[in-house]
Amino acid sequence: MTPKLPADLLSLIAHLKKLPGVGTRTAERFAFELLLWEKEPLASLSHSLKEFQEKIPTCSTCGCLTDQGDCAFCKNRDHTSLCIIASAREAFAIEETGYRGLYHVIEHLLSPLDGRHANTINLDRIAKRIQKQHIQEVIIALDSTLEGDTTALYLKNHLSQPHLSISRLAFGLPVGSSLEYIDGSTLARALQGRQKI
Ligand SMILES: [Zn+2]
Repeated sequence: MTPKLPADLLSLIAHLKKLPGVGTRTAERFAFELLLWEKEPLASLSHSLKEFQEKIPTCSTCGCLTDQGDCAFCKNRDHTSLCIIASAREAFAIEETGYRGLYHVIEHLLSPLDGRHANTINLDRIAKRIQKQHIQEVIIALDSTLEGDTTALYLKNHLSQPHLSISRLAFGLPVGSSLEYIDGSTLARALQGRQKI
């Protein structure tokens, strides 16, 4: 009989594989590396994983990460523009460009092949914010990929209304690029050169 990996190790590998950019080989390497860790750092990692969902809550209005109490991305901001992003992480990169408007995290891009259909984006919530906060411009800051394009088009088609400008990061973003790999100055140029869609 061929020896098999222990079930707990297989389970850890399966979890690690869900991380972006981690394939089977890398997940196995990580899992075997973790086997060598001392008890204390391993317990600390496990504690962080257990606690971080509670300790790093997301803002119920914009979906960005909040540290304590008020959301820094919602308080004392320019309420005329709303920047739609796919991940809370992107707000930090866009902040670096000097943008001081509001954000809205949609959490994922549309990808029907992966089961992420249009109904997985809460459009109502975005539309209500636009209305309630008298937003004049929606900036769609999504990846320049097929999924990003599909999502941007969907948002544009469903959020369009008179007196609301909808633009998308364009200038300087190569086709097929994911926002997380764009450097700060390219992102700032892309924001400045946003184009109405
Ligand atoms: Zn917020």
